[in-house]
Amino acid sequence: MNYTEKEYWIKAEKSFEILHACSGCKRKQSFVNTGCFRVNANGNKLDVWLIYQCQKCRHTLNIPIFERISPAKLDKGLYKKFLENNAELAEQYGRSFSFFKLKKFEVDQNSASIVLYDKSGKADEGDSCTGFERIIVHNDSGLKLKNEKLVATVLKISRSAAKKLIDESKISLSAESTTVIIEFI
Ligand SMILES: [Zn+2]
Repeated sequence: MNYTEKEYWIKAEKSFEILHACSGCKRKQSFVNTGCFRVNANGNKLDVWLIYQCQKCRHTLNIPIFERISPAKLDKGLYKKFLENNAELAEQYGRSFSFFKLKKFEVDQNSASIVLYDKSGKADEGDSCTGFERIIVHNDSGLKLKNEKLVATVLKISRSAAKKLIDESKISLSAESTTVIIEFI
């Protein structure tokens, strides 16, 4: 069978916000990426953290990247980037859902905004892709998205219109690892 097919990659548009207990506010707050690292030498071991900050009171939250690592084991180029607070690298960590998952930090899913990229790596700003029979979406960031949000983003329609399509079985979704396939029935 011949399908008219379209393929997308989903990426985070900006650093994820983290939900964590704030010692300043004495309650759970939303923390944002400062774009800075902290490197601490402890004997002959190094600790490296990505620094997040409470949106309300600016208390900081250190997210460990490396803990008690031998300097010999740390790539020199990477170490230099940590020391100079390389903004691009800080963003790379901030947009990695799997990084926060690994470190057991809670990503604020509601604040997460996602962008679609096409095969060439360009952000997709095109028209709605209804008219395709099958859309393949690669969600490599590991970010968990509700079906409605995913369909709404990919088809560029409202959340309620996406819900309607799903509820009325006009489309089917099947997921395999980090790939979701949307098919029009
Ligand atoms: Zn706070």
